[in-house]
Parts: sequence; structure tokens; C-alpha cells
Amino acid sequence: MFCFKSAVVTGSTSGIGHAIALAFAKEGANVVLNGFGDAGEIEKIRAGIESEFGVKAIYSPADMTKPQEIEEMVRLGEKTFGSVDILVNNAGIQFVSPIEDFPVEKWDQVIAINLSSAFHATRAAVAGMKARGWGRIINTASAHSLVASPFKSAYVAAKHGIAGLTKTVALEIATDGITVNCISPGYVWTPLVEKQIPDTMMARNMTREQVINDVLLKAQPTKQFVTVDQVAALAVFLCSDAASQITGTNLSMDGGWTAE
Ligand code: NAD
Repeated sequence: MFCFKSAVVTGSTSGIGHAIALAFAKEGANVVLNGFGDAGEIEKIRAGIESEFGVKAIYSPADMTKPQEIEEMVRLGEKTFGSVDILVNNAGIQFVSPIEDFPVEKWDQVIAINLSSAFHATRAAVAGMKARGWGRIINTASAHSLVASPFKSAYVAAKHGIAGLTKTVALEIATDGITVNCISPGYVWTPLVEKQIPDTMMARNMTREQVINDVLLKAQPTKQFVTVDQVAALAVFLCSDAASQITGTNLSMDGGWTAE
């Protein structure tokens, strides 16, 4: 239980970030939610967290491509809760294209959301963490922070970049009571992944099982998806005192993918 802590989780209106925000709230943390989506759905998530876990939850609509809005999101957390003790840089998008056709604006967008936003949020949050002598920064990286796949140049570059940013910041603030780590999931079962299955079954004339094992989980030796709750449980552990000496690491949760 990490009572009286406050967390900012970017991209927490869906998938992994949503699960992390819920897990933190369950541990007693106030949370700043962030991400896009239907206003009514987001309000349902926010109000649900408050009523289920008895903590405070607020929503920041900050766009992770906009440095000014990212800083305002961190300041909103500090102003509302008195501190931002935990920062999870999680928002991310994917775009798949051969390099010669990769739209320049998509490259810029993926780098902005998946990499630069973590720089801007970390830059804004570190001073307060240093002043209080405690902090946790967790970046959602990916197996693609360690290995590549074709046609994902921007995503792989951004995720390798976030692994480097993680190590650098961890060293800079190692004596300040702040740890900085990244979690690198393989394929995680999110609505995003689930929605791809019917179309892929049709396109490749495959059964659901074939799509899961031979397409989606081809690279994942366990042949099982990671769950959002498993990623969230690791994030909670990284915030515990037991994890105070884990810093600058890239923690894989990928069913053995990057062991090959
Ligand atoms: P998701 O699509 O379910 O969630 C992404 C979140 O980011 C959403 O809340 C979305 O609104 C938010 N977002 C997107 N663009 C934004 C912007 N400009 N400003 C603010 N918020 C924005 O995806 P997910 O699968 O939960 O992915 C979360 C993170 O996990 C990403 O960084 C992704 O790269 C990483 N990841 C996912 C998988 C997987 O298999 N799902 C595997 C490895 C890593």
C-alpha cells in the first residue's frame, strides 16, 4: 500500500495505462488520468476510480505531442494533490510502413508521443521528486526497445530511445531517492490487439487460433499474451520499497521473445 502518493499515468484511458492507473488507485494513490477518448467514458473511468478505491482521480486532456500541455499536466497533478510522486510515461501509438513510404508527419507523431513526451513529462516532474527525496518514473517501452521488426522504423526508434532515456535519467538522479525504469512488454492482450483478429482471419484465410499463434504470437515463445494486469503488477512492485535498488533497468515481460 503506497498511501498518500500521487501518480500521473499518461495514456491511461485505455489498455495498459488504464490497468496501471487502477492498480495504483487500489494501492491508495491519487491519480491523474490522461489520454484520448469519449468524454463520457473517461468520466466513467475517473468517477469509478474514486468510488471504488476511495482516492482522488482527475483527468488531464494533455496532448502528448504538445510540450506545453505535458508540463501543464504535471503542474495540475502537483497543484491538485500537492505532489507528483510517480510518473508513468505510457502513451503510445503505432504506425507500420516501409521506410521509403513512411509519412514524415507519422514519423514525427510517433517520436513525439512515444519518446519526446516522456522527456517533457520527466523534465517537469523531477524537480518536485528531488525536493521530496522520493520518486518513481516508469516508462512503458516494448520488446521493440531491444529488438526490431521490419516496417516499424519510428516505433522501434522511439522505443530504443526510451530505453536510453531511462538509463540516462536513472544515473542523473540515482542519489535522490528516485528510480527510473522501463517495462518492455511483448504482445499484450488489449482491445487494440483483439480487434485485429477478425480482419486477419479473413485476409489470411486462417482460424482464430492460427492468427493468434502463427501471426500475433509468432515471436512469443510462451504462445500466450501478456495481460494488462501483469504489466500493472510490475509497475506497482517498482513503486514499492522492495524495488528501491532497481533503477536504470529495462524489464522484459515478453513470454521469452527477446531471449531468442
Ligand atoms: P492503447 O491504444 O490501448 O492505449 C494508448 C493510450 O495512449 C490511450 O489512452 C490513448 O488515448 C493514449 N494516447 C495516444 N495518443 C495520445 C496523445 N497524443 N496524447 C495523449 N494520449 C495519447 O495501447 P496500449 O496497448 O495500452 O499501449 C500503451 C503503451 O504500451 C504504448 O506505449 C505501447 O507502445 C506500449 N506497448 C503495447 C504493447 C501491446 O501489445 N499492446 C506491447 C508493448 C508495448
